Formats: sequence, structure tokens, C-alpha cells
Amino acid sequence: MTTETKPGCLFCKIVRKEIPAEIVFEDGDILAFPDIAPKAPTHVLVIPKRHVDRLSDTTRADEPLLGRLLGGLAEVARTLGLDDYRVVVNNGAGAGQVVFHVHVHLMAGRQFKWPAG
Ligand code: AMP
Ligand code: ZN
Repeated sequence: MTTETKPGCLFCKIVRKEIPAEIVFEDGDILAFPDIAPKAPTHVLVIPKRHVDRLSDTTRADEPLLGRLLGGLAEVARTLGLDDYRVVVNNGAGAGQVVFHVHVHLMAGRQFKWPAG
């Protein structure tokens, strides 16, 4: 998988190490770092290094990367000793997406409501 970043994208800047983040996990394809405005005691974002605006822009060709994204998230959760956690992807502004570079939220350390609000 190649690394193709987008110049003005905030998370691509983190990938290129132009904006600091406390990286908790990194491999060739993905990166994980704490959310700057945590919504739970533990709140980590897991992102692909390659820029994709949102989940709905992915294709079958992206499925290995999407698998790695969730598999990497599970690895991060194990490393942090988490057992119960919430995984969220906001797709599109109407669903709460603010940063248009695909990312998965890993949240833990508090009670979560279901259905999600
Ligand atoms: P979303 O609403 O799903 O697009 O989530 C974007 C998340 O990125 C929000 O929870 C923000 O708090 C978080 N965020 C924005 N800027 C940064 C940053 N520089 N470092 C870490 N997290 C960030
Ligand atoms: Zn990006």
C-alpha cells in the first residue's frame, strides 16, 4: 500500500509529522494518536496513512486497508489493556464528520449509551 497524502489535510500533516501528535501506534499503513478533544477517558484516532476523504469514498481496492484499520485498532486497544470499548466512524458532515480524512474513533473508560446518539 502506498502513502499518498493531501497537502492541506490536517491528518495528512500528522502523517507527514508536520503537526505534532503523540503517536501510540504506527506501521506502514496506519497511524494512531490521541484525540485532541477527548470524548472519553481514552480516546484514540486510528487513520490510514493514505488520504481518503471518507469511508463512503472507499472501494473494494481499499478493503485490505480498511481491514488493517480495524485490526490495528484492536491491537492498540490490546496494548492499552482495553476490553470494553466503543468504535465509531462518522461519515459525512451530517453524521458529525469534521476532519475529512478517514479515521476510526476508539473510545473507552466510561459508560456508552446504545443506540449511539
Ligand atoms: P470527526 O468528527 O469524526 O471528523 O472527528 C475528528 C476528530 O479529530 C475530533 O474528535 C477532533 O477532536 C479530532 N482532532 C482535530 N484536530 C486534531 C489534532 N490536531 N490532533 C488530534 N485530534 C484532532
Ligand atoms: Zn488526509
